Amino acid sequence: MRLGLRIDVDTFRGTRHGVPRLCHILESRGLQASFFFTMGPDNMGRHLFRLLKPTFLRKMMRTRAGSLYGWDILLRGTIWPGPRIGQKLSAVIRETADAGHEIGVHAWDHHRWQVAVERMGATALAGETQSAFELLAEIIGKTPSCSASAGWRCTNDVLEIKSSFPFQYNSDCRGRCGPFLPLINGTCLEQPQVPVTLPTWDEVAGQISDQQYNSFMLDSMRPDHDEVLTIHAEAEGMSKADMFEEFLDRAMEMGRTIVPLGQMVGDSGELPRRPILQGHVDGREGWVAVVGDEG
Ligand SMILES: [Zn+2]
Repeated sequence: MRLGLRIDVDTFRGTRHGVPRLCHILESRGLQASFFFTMGPDNMGRHLFRLLKPTFLRKMMRTRAGSLYGWDILLRGTIWPGPRIGQKLSAVIRETADAGHEIGVHAWDHHRWQVAVERMGATALAGETQSAFELLAEIIGKTPSCSASAGWRCTNDVLEIKSSFPFQYNSDCRGRCGPFLPLINGTCLEQPQVPVTLPTWDEVAGQISDQQYNSFMLDSMRPDHDEVLTIHAEAEGMSKADMFEEFLDRAMEMGRTIVPLGQMVGDSGELPRRPILQGHVDGREGWVAVVGDEG
């Protein structure tokens, strides 16, 4: 069985420090994965305002986000404008592509997308997607082949906008099923979706200690199913890197083949058709896009 490995890169710090470390970890094992980059300003510091919400405060305490992301990151965008990640760290992104990994669009302004996707309107959503796509294409010297909405915040508007880009697949939602074609009001789009089937580290942290984390994740994988895992450059590429290395080795010992998500799509003509709905996953604040029943 396969494990699709998706790496989300949300911040300047994660791009600069987490991505090279993950590339090294993967290269030393002869593995390739899908990297989804944030290209525009790093305004993740605006998350500080969310501290006012008790649920987010609890999560911060639980995951110790201050030590995980660094207080400079949490403050970034609140006092001074965030740097443009793609422009300043183009070399890191280019080296990741040159190492043969699959490269996709995550966001232009990750924070804005995550908090405002329902309010932004189609023009702004298309503009952010276009800006990220163009800068990423320029840096890697080829067309980015895939995309993954920031924070799994994906609406039918987003799906329609993405369908005008040359993405071979998108990974915008959560669910326990395999790849499918998205349905909007009975109409089927051509770009397959590859849903994320497993929880992320920050969703589980708090209930499960780091000592138990890898065993918990390995036990969560269904023996007779392909699975898709999202890791973050800011976590598994930095303070959780040793833990992630052990996870990879144990997953491979169990017989999992680790692949980029693009290898999981297969023949899109034979994929089931399903709607994408708003739902929730344990341990994550607010709504995320989830897979609906087959239509
Ligand atoms: Zn993200």
